[in-house]
Amino acid sequence: MKQKETMSNTPLDNDDILDDHVASSYDTPLRPDAFEMDDELKKELIAKHFKEIMQILGMDLTDDSLAGTPRRVAKMYVEEVFSGLNPKNKPKARLFENKFGYNQMLVEKDITFYSHCEHHFVPIYGKAHVAYISSGEVIGLSKINRIVQYYSKRPQVQERLTVQIANELRKVLKTEDVGVVIDANHMCVSSRGVGDTNSKTGTAHFSGKFLEEKYKNEFLNYINSPGNGMV
Ligand SMILES: [Zn+2]
Repeated sequence: MKQKETMSNTPLDNDDILDDHVASSYDTPLRPDAFEMDDELKKELIAKHFKEIMQILGMDLTDDSLAGTPRRVAKMYVEEVFSGLNPKNKPKARLFENKFGYNQMLVEKDITFYSHCEHHFVPIYGKAHVAYISSGEVIGLSKINRIVQYYSKRPQVQERLTVQIANELRKVLKTEDVGVVIDANHMCVSSRGVGDTNSKTGTAHFSGKFLEEKYKNEFLNYINSPGNGMV
């Protein structure tokens, strides 16, 4: 697995950099007025513009099969695949007291996610693996899953997705001891460009105790083991 633990802070200024999927910031680049327009109007406008794109491509929008596509795409963008742009959709994480005093590593592996590459607007999909050491409180496993889904449902770059999930978990779990590893397929790599169908991209972000080899290796060994038991 290729691991990238740092991100470049160099400003982006050409297509070569964009094709390498380098992000400019850990924050999703959003305008301050991003949510002044309501969802209904967004869907209406996206449908209108998507229809234009299809028309420019020469497609016959009077065909029954295509007629509903602009509206369908608009609805999918706003309500589903890019719903994680809007903070109103952010999952509220409830913490539970760690009654058993369990202070070992907790790992949730193989969380399936679907995202979109922000440079080509085609899918990035794969598995996220998350680990943390409880600060005295724990979170429901489904909540970890929902945090992963929330940050996935944006135009993304994989490095930023990895860091955003880690940052949110640190905040919610009130601990620095967090590790996030993502293995993903990029449709913009497999279906176009170099056309490499087999390559996967791995990214990792470690903080707190996970910067120590002992914890990092325990986590990595676990996610790389075929079984489900801790090693
Ligand atoms: Zn791409």
